[in-house]
Amino acid sequence: MAKDYYKILGVDKNASQDDIKKAYRKLARQYHPDLHPGDNAAAEKFKEINEANEVLSDEKKRKNYDNFGDPNGAGFGGAGAGAGGFGGFGGFEDIFGDIFGGFGGRSQRAQTKTKGDDVTVEVTLSFLDAAKGCRREIVYTRDEPCSSCSGIGAKNSSAYKTCDKCGGTGQVQYTTSNGFFRQVNVRVCDECKGTGKKIIEKCPDCNGKGYNRVSTKVTIDIPAGADTGSYMRKIGFGQASRNGGPAGDLIIVFKVEGSKLFRRKNFDLYVTVPISITTAVLGGKVKIPLIDDTLEYTIPDGTQSGKIFFVRGKGIKTNRGTGDLYIEVIVEIPTKISREQKKILESLEKETDISKTSKMREYRENMEKMYGENPYQKK
Ligand SMILES: [Zn+2]
Ligand SMILES: [Zn+2]
Repeated sequence: MAKDYYKILGVDKNASQDDIKKAYRKLARQYHPDLHPGDNAAAEKFKEINEANEVLSDEKKRKNYDNFGDPNGAGFGGAGAGAGGFGGFGGFEDIFGDIFGGFGGRSQRAQTKTKGDDVTVEVTLSFLDAAKGCRREIVYTRDEPCSSCSGIGAKNSSAYKTCDKCGGTGQVQYTTSNGFFRQVNVRVCDECKGTGKKIIEKCPDCNGKGYNRVSTKVTIDIPAGADTGSYMRKIGFGQASRNGGPAGDLIIVFKVEGSKLFRRKNFDLYVTVPISITTAVLGGKVKIPLIDDTLEYTIPDGTQSGKIFFVRGKGIKTNRGTGDLYIEVIVEIPTKISREQKKILESLEKETDISKTSKMREYRENMEKMYGENPYQKK
């Protein structure tokens, strides 16, 4: 599935950033495209080396890659490969391969097939949908490989031939000279536009293009735990290849809306609960929201404002693990009180015994020691 970036750079899994940098520089010099004009294998290798370096030289990406085989965090990106399960479409490449290979014959001169471009769509999910998982229908426009001709663009397998100009490679070489140097360059064949073939009779369904611009609908099951920036990949649902390669992929990037009750960090949930002074002092029960349910939580007596309670395993449940719940308690000080309440509070103030409260006692002792004053002197 994922490429082995360590192997590509020829370094050990525990390699230091220095080792990685050295290995990358050496290989990049060796495979630089300027030294290998027209060599697709070298160009591909150069691309791979850069890709590997991009991930391994970034500690965050490297960690994600080590843990999940995916540099893009939370390991969610890879979920599409499994959850997508696009068996039906996966066969496309094979079918095409057979027709093309069977007729074309000259496999050693066949052009390098390139994958179609990926299509990226952004999908916005509500906080709860993302946390619970949900099903979404996505409608987007793409160049869909023509099913009548399997993307060849010809009416049938005898309705096209290999392009004479490029011999089916889709590329032509030309040389430029610059002083002492003669350089061989490669460009896309203008005769066949890089497809490597000449169509004798066009496929009527795509008018010879091999693809049709259509509106495509896919339904995806998004597993619980999607977060802003995480993505899924539907293989083969991107743009059709222009020269008989596999179609690109559809990449669905998520954007998760905020919630009035929750905040989240990966799969952990954070809830802020305001409580009354009396609950803080005497203790009491309070309902806490969960993703699917609510939880009755008992606030112990003597709870200070800002206290955070931790409840294991009550965060977001995903197939990659379950988060925890953090309950932050804020004691709300009343701003409008009745005459009756005022009386009660004044008598409470008279009854307050600082020697029993640790923070106030500590403050008073320090003030007395350093300034000789009692900060809580009553009127
Ligand atoms: Zn050509
Ligand atoms: Zn067609």
